[in-house]
Amino acid sequence: MTDQKKVVEILLDMAKVLEENKEFLTDLDNVIGDGDHGINMARGFAEVEKQAESLEQKDIGNMLKTVGMTLVSKVGGSSGPLYGTAFMKAGMTIGAKNEIDMADFLDALEVGIEGVKARGKSTTGEKTMLDAMVPALDAMKEQQAAGADVKQVLEAGVQAAEAGVEATKPMVATKGRASYLGERSVGHQDPGATSFTLMLKEIAKAY
Ligand code: ADP
Ligand code: MG
Repeated sequence: MTDQKKVVEILLDMAKVLEENKEFLTDLDNVIGDGDHGINMARGFAEVEKQAESLEQKDIGNMLKTVGMTLVSKVGGSSGPLYGTAFMKAGMTIGAKNEIDMADFLDALEVGIEGVKARGKSTTGEKTMLDAMVPALDAMKEQQAAGADVKQVLEAGVQAAEAGVEATKPMVATKGRASYLGERSVGHQDPGATSFTLMLKEIAKAY
């Protein structure tokens, strides 16, 4: 079981890794977008970091909803509203719980991903964050159904997300700014798929 304290710790780990990878993510976005993805993610999670103390007082559902609202309001670009929606939907799914298990996490991620699809009018194969999120969720659900432990489930998710990032390289972007490049987006990994994988790795590391 994962309690509020641990969720906040993971959010702080995410803030740290996104700050450390600010340049990397921005460089990726420079190639197929407008070079702000790292700045956007680091800025959003720096705000989350500032709220850490008050977040820990909230149940996990409200905590994630608050994180989502912060990302929507503090992050420019498409990634703020998209990740923000994912966190808000995840929070609504979890509700007023002070502890969650793997089944809760997978339900929340699933509804979060549906939120990204709805908000972004997007699906897999379009060279976006969804190309890491969806395979990661599928792999984790499969492991969970097979009775794997938390660590194994999360590791399978990370591997699938990493493969998903690789799979974005040959894709032609059809959503977001990268779509303006059309065929010229081919050969480059998607920044949003990369940031999701970094965040999922932080969750996996915590177990
Ligand atoms: P912007 O594109 O507005 O500059 P960011 O650079 O922060 O915002 O985020 C870009 C990332 O957002 C992309 O790499 C992609 O993964 C994701 N993205 C953009 N549009 C969509 C969409 N419609 N659906 C899902 N993900 C998207
Ligand atoms: Mg950008």
